[in-house]
Formats: sequence, structure tokens, C-alpha cells
Amino acid sequence: EQESIAHETIVAISTPPGRGGIGIVRLSGPHALEIANALLTLRSPLAHALARFAEIHDPESNSKLDEAIATWFAKPKSYTGEDLIEIAAHGSPVILELLVRLALQHGARLARPGEFTERAFLSGRIDLTQAEAVRDLIESQTLYQARTAAEQMDGALSRRIRPVKQTLVELIAVLEAGIDFAEDDVDLMPDAEIVTRIDTISVDLEKLARSFEHGRIVHSGLTMAIVGRPNVGKSSLFNRLVERERAIVTATPGTTRDLVTERVSLGGIPLELVDTAGLRESTDEAESIGIQKSREALADADLVLVVIEAGVPLREDEAQIIQSLAGRKALIVRNKIDLDLEDNAVGESTMAVVGTSARTGQGIDDLRAALLSMVRAPTGESESGILTNLRQHQAVTEALSGLVAAEEAVARKTPHEMLLLDLYSTLRQLDSLTGETTADDILNRIFSTFCIGK
Ligand code: GDP
Ligand code: ZN
Repeated sequence: EQESIAHETIVAISTPPGRGGIGIVRLSGPHALEIANALLTLRSPLAHALARFAEIHDPESNSKLDEAIATWFAKPKSYTGEDLIEIAAHGSPVILELLVRLALQHGARLARPGEFTERAFLSGRIDLTQAEAVRDLIESQTLYQARTAAEQMDGALSRRIRPVKQTLVELIAVLEAGIDFAEDDVDLMPDAEIVTRIDTISVDLEKLARSFEHGRIVHSGLTMAIVGRPNVGKSSLFNRLVERERAIVTATPGTTRDLVTERVSLGGIPLELVDTAGLRESTDEAESIGIQKSREALADADLVLVVIEAGVPLREDEAQIIQSLAGRKALIVRNKIDLDLEDNAVGESTMAVVGTSARTGQGIDDLRAALLSMVRAPTGESESGILTNLRQHQAVTEALSGLVAAEEAVARKTPHEMLLLDLYSTLRQLDSLTGETTADDILNRIFSTFCIGK
């Protein structure tokens, strides 16, 4: 089936919709070169990896419509591994659509979303984790996200999985040999040695699985709720962190009735700040709704800032919130330190405390640093090659359950044939991670999340 797909030449506009300085149409497949030649009036013939000046002519009047630069990347030295042509015309949707229409008339078909990258994968140029990284890179909103995606695109995750897989394959080979030569009285690997080897693999995979905690953060970001009594300066802190006047700051307690949210980048990690309306009881209906929402925001948040007022003794409800946050990622912020007030004791809590002044900006950098250290070091290791999506995490989790089952099989002294089934299932999961054995429907699902032209 892959054969038939590759027989077709695909075309798409690869630049975003709308008008731009330039717009690019991409053609990939066995007839890309021939179709490009039919579409363009070239002064000199297309040659591998060389930009060529080209004119685009109106098919009806044959008068010149636009000038373009066309580049041919010859098979297999192209993104898709096939003959690939990129035509960079002026970014008028009319011209770009004309090029696509002409390409269709000459036998190309419209590319599905992500099909260029899918072809790169099918031709073996990149593996599945790298293909996913292309999408992540395109979608990245911060430089840190882009760097993580670039590492994965470069094969960091695949490189990390390779040695683990190697160990597994060796174990499988030894066990298979034991079965094949059982009659010849070959020494079987002792159970203890099998378990040791399985453990080695498990340790690596568990570490990899844990990297998803950070990968998910890098990929999807975090939400941080700012909570505290009315008037302690939540909205002012929110504004400081957002560095714009977005939340409403007032001197009347309880005015932030609805939740105000804003996305910021914290050291490259997308952070959704939620300014809440304070958590005290209220008789005002609108305010009560705000309080309810605040409670939900607090429950859902990945990070919590509990804002208290410097110099004011900790109140009962504040102490309760702090207590309820035990084990969660949270910070106490003593705001209004500019008022030069005494340190207020924050009780038994082991939660970190940062002093700030939303008014003067004092301590805001410390607050950012404290937040960043909470966010950045979930496993206490800086890793290269981390899991960044649920699909990858599931594959590793299932690979691990195969290993658990294998160890149980050893413990039960079942024949090695049974144990091998579990190890093969782990191997299949690792293969599916990089896409070596992934069913077509799953591939389709993955690539359909790309945009057209990628
Ligand atoms: P919220 O109700 O917790 O959101 O508090 P606001 O941000 O609306 O601030 C309440 C009042 O405290 C406003 O008058 C702010 O100007 C003031 N305020 C906020 N932060 C500070 C601070 O760090 N120092 C001083 N002196 N006043 C502050
Ligand atoms: Zn407020």
C-alpha cells in the first residue's frame, strides 16, 4: 500500500493562509520535476539544491503573472526522500492557488495534512518521534519549546531508546538460543541473570517515562493560580508577572469577580496565570460565583501562589489554604514588603516564602526564579531526549508492563517461550515509539494533526 501512495505526486501551499511577501508551493513525488517544468518558464533547467529563477505565466493569455524561485531537491536528498520542488512565488493567494490548480491538472493531487512529513517517515528519512518533533517545532510558542523540539527532531529521543532496545534484543536472542538448542544441553541463562537484565531495561524506561512530566510541561505548559484574601495584591502581582495592565487593580476588596487569565512564558515554559477573586465567603451573588471559580482554579492549577500581606499575622483561612496545599507545587508570597513591615510567621509550613512588592517590583525576579526552579527540575535531572506527548508515554508505559509480566513469568518458572512473548510485546512497544511497527490507522491519526503543506 505504501508503494501506491508513493506513486502519486502531491502538491500543497506550504506557507500559512493569507498574503505574505513570499508564498511557497511544494510538490513531492515521482512526477514533481515534470509537473514543475510544465508550470514554470525557466531560463535554465532545474538542478539539485540550486535556486532557479522562474516565471509563472497566465495559462489563458500566456502573459507573465509572477516571478518565482524554484528549487529542486533530488530524490533521495530531500525532506520527503522523493523528488521535491519548492516554488517560492510572491505571496498572493491567487497566484499560489493557480500554481496548485495547474499542478492538479498535470496529475498531482492535493496533499493531506502532514503528508510531506509522512512521506519523509515512510521513506525512512526520519522516525516517528522526529516527525512529531517537526509538528512540535512548527507549533512551538517559546524558544525553549523550539529547542526541545529541535533536539527531538535531531533524534535525541530515538538515540536514548536505541541502547535500551539493544539490551532487550540481546536478552531475547539469548533466550531464543536457549530454546533452540535446549536438546543440545546448552547452559540456560540463570533466572537471576534474566531478572537483572530485565531490571536494567526497566530502570531506563522508568526514567524515560518520568521525563514525560517535564515533556508535558514543555509541550502544553502549566497553569498557575494566584490565590489569597482580598486586597493582598493578587491582581497587582498578576500584572507584574504579565508585565502589562490586564487584571483590574482596585483598592476595594473583592473586585476581581471573574477569573482573569493570561499566558506568559516563564523561562520558555508556557504558563497560564489565573488571577482569582479571593476565597472568602461572600453574600454578593456575583462575587460568590467568582469565589466558586477561584476554588476550581485552585484545584486545577499545576502551581499555586498564595499571596499574603507582609506584616499582617497569618489568618485562619490563609493557614488553612497553605495546609491544604501540602505536597503540591506552591509558594507563599509575602506581598507589600515596601511597607517595611515585620516578618509574619507563616506557621508550620515548609512551603517556600518569597517577599515581593508588586508596587515597586522588588522581589519579582526572585519570585520568577523560585517559580522556575519549581517548574524546571521535576526529576532533578537535565535530560536530552524526553517524552513530549501522550502517545510516546503510553508506548513506554506499555513497554514497562511487558517487563513486569516478564519478571512475573520468571518468578513463576514458566517456560521461556512464555517469557519471550512478554519481552516481544515490550519490543513492539519500543518499535512503535519510533514508528518501526505502527499500524496505518495510528500513523494516519498522527499525521492528520499536522497542517497542510508540512
Ligand atoms: P487583590 O484584591 O488581591 O487582587 O489586590 P490588588 O492587586 O487589587 O491590590 C489591592 C491594593 O493593594 C491596591 O490598592 C494596590 O495598589 C495595593 N498593592 C498591591 N500590591 C502592593 C504592594 O506591593 N505594595 C503596596 N504598598 N501596595 C500594594
Ligand atoms: Zn484582584
